[in-house]
Amino acid sequence: MKKSLKDLSYEEIQDWATAKGLKAFVGRQIFRWMFDKKVSSASEMRNVSKPVRDLVDKSGDIKLLETEKHEKSPDDSTEKFLFRCRDGQAVETVLIRSPRRNTLCISSQVGCALGCVFCRTADMGFIRDLSSGEMAEQFIQASRISGEHITNVVFMGMGEPFRNYDASIRAAVVLNHEKGPNIAARRITLSTSGIVPRIREFAQLPYQFKLAISLNAGDNAKRNLLMPVNRRYPLPGLLEAAKHYTDVSNRHVTFEYVLIRDLNDGPEDAEALKNRLTSIPCKLNVIPFNETGGGLERPSDSDVKRFLSYLENVNFAVTLRNSGGRGIHAACGQLYHEGKTP
Ligand code: SAH
Ligand code: SF4
Repeated sequence: MKKSLKDLSYEEIQDWATAKGLKAFVGRQIFRWMFDKKVSSASEMRNVSKPVRDLVDKSGDIKLLETEKHEKSPDDSTEKFLFRCRDGQAVETVLIRSPRRNTLCISSQVGCALGCVFCRTADMGFIRDLSSGEMAEQFIQASRISGEHITNVVFMGMGEPFRNYDASIRAAVVLNHEKGPNIAARRITLSTSGIVPRIREFAQLPYQFKLAISLNAGDNAKRNLLMPVNRRYPLPGLLEAAKHYTDVSNRHVTFEYVLIRDLNDGPEDAEALKNRLTSIPCKLNVIPFNETGGGLERPSDSDVKRFLSYLENVNFAVTLRNSGGRGIHAACGQLYHEGKTP
């Protein structure tokens, strides 16, 4: 796919400008217009000369996504966007409002290859990677349309960001850039199903981005059943990589645990978690399963409470995330669309 201006970093846009015979600062201005002022066409770049605006229009498209659908949950806490890419593929993005923050959940791929049994996105299969520009643009369009100041970004929409590592990190760096959206690195979280070599690479990054790992089982055989990726990167090695990340970065890791009725909600499941996680500086985020239309079930509220009670005396924090937006299929694990329109 042809690279767009939005796929370039702050430095690369300056190089682009000088290669066109312009001053580097023109590149800096264009970066600001795109990522800070969030314009969707060159004509809005007021302090940029007409010939340069024409050049921008001609040599790199700055609008990568069209908004095809915009839904709101009845209580307004959640909004879901369906964005159409230039090649006809589509992705979903979710905005979650809460009193203290507005979190945008962005997609990193169209579909996903990893086949987790509880995840609706898995049913799409893998279609393609998104470019960093397409990821950053989800933020720009969602900010424009909602009119909301987005404070946090999580790479927890469709796809596996660590299977599209370079573009995902590039997007995170742009979103963090002080001349762009300027979202603090510790408010940007990348979530992975457990691609071990990339976790080790992530630990070395000179940015304070946060890491979440979708754990879902403290037992290796059970995790194999839920997440086929575990056969490639089994649990012991994954937890070693998680520990490595916490050691090197001095940060906690968040483990996500989708709680599924009769599958991973028993006392032995809690015990396995306790044994595995005690030595890792971490937080465990329990997410009651959101229905996806398959055979799996959401535990009742009292089942959830009971599971949390098994974890009362552990030495790591345990939180419950009741994802909003179930009514509009915007909750964790529910992102899915039929793919490309003809
Ligand atoms: N591929 C990455 C990021 C996207 S999935 C990953 O797997 O981490 C984002 C989160 O949604 C994961 O923590 C996953 O465990 C959770 N999830 C998937 N399906 C779900 C479902 N049906 N109900 C609740 N959470 C789900
Ligand atoms: Fe892919 Fe994550 Fe869904 Fe698993 S949970 S299928 S890795 S998007």
